[in-house]
Amino acid sequence: MSNYDPTVPMLRQLLALSILGRLEEAGFVQEPPKRKLVKPEMAEKIFSRIVGEATDGMKVMVYTTVIGDGDTMPYEVRLAGSDAIRVSAVYVTKDGETRGLTSDKRVNRTGDIDDIVDRMVARMRDAWRSCKTGARCYSCNAPKFATKNGKQVCAEICWKSDEEKARDSAAFKYRKRRRHWGSRW
Ligand SMILES: [Zn+2]
Repeated sequence: MSNYDPTVPMLRQLLALSILGRLEEAGFVQEPPKRKLVKPEMAEKIFSRIVGEATDGMKVMVYTTVIGDGDTMPYEVRLAGSDAIRVSAVYVTKDGETRGLTSDKRVNRTGDIDDIVDRMVARMRDAWRSCKTGARCYSCNAPKFATKNGKQVCAEICWKSDEEKARDSAAFKYRKRRRHWGSRW
């Protein structure tokens, strides 16, 4: 029973160990970093657990705010008071794209350490349930996800051909690049 105070390094370490301990108990594993990092110990640890069969493509993700490696640097939660632990349910498409099945659920790091971790576990169970019970596509059985305008559509975008999808993704990247240049020049 300790009240979390982010200004106390020992409490940041205690919270980090509680988070990692509960994730391990719940069968979650750390996601490997997407690219090689110069200081891997400074990267936020992301944990996930596959829901159902690996081929179903659904995962519960936990963005822990935990950094450190337990060796050269102790595990601790990030100092920044504004960020929260985030939990979401995702679907990885056959093309390797990750789509959120639910909006990120935030767990604020305030109050008793055990309570913070319990709230995180509750959000993990919610995300698990939405993977299990969420709407499925009638034609391909992939889960549905909400688009930006709130429409529920098949996460595999299975009504489009591969050529159409490739064209859309190229157009999207082009627009993104233009926006980037636009802000710079
Ligand atoms: Zn579909």
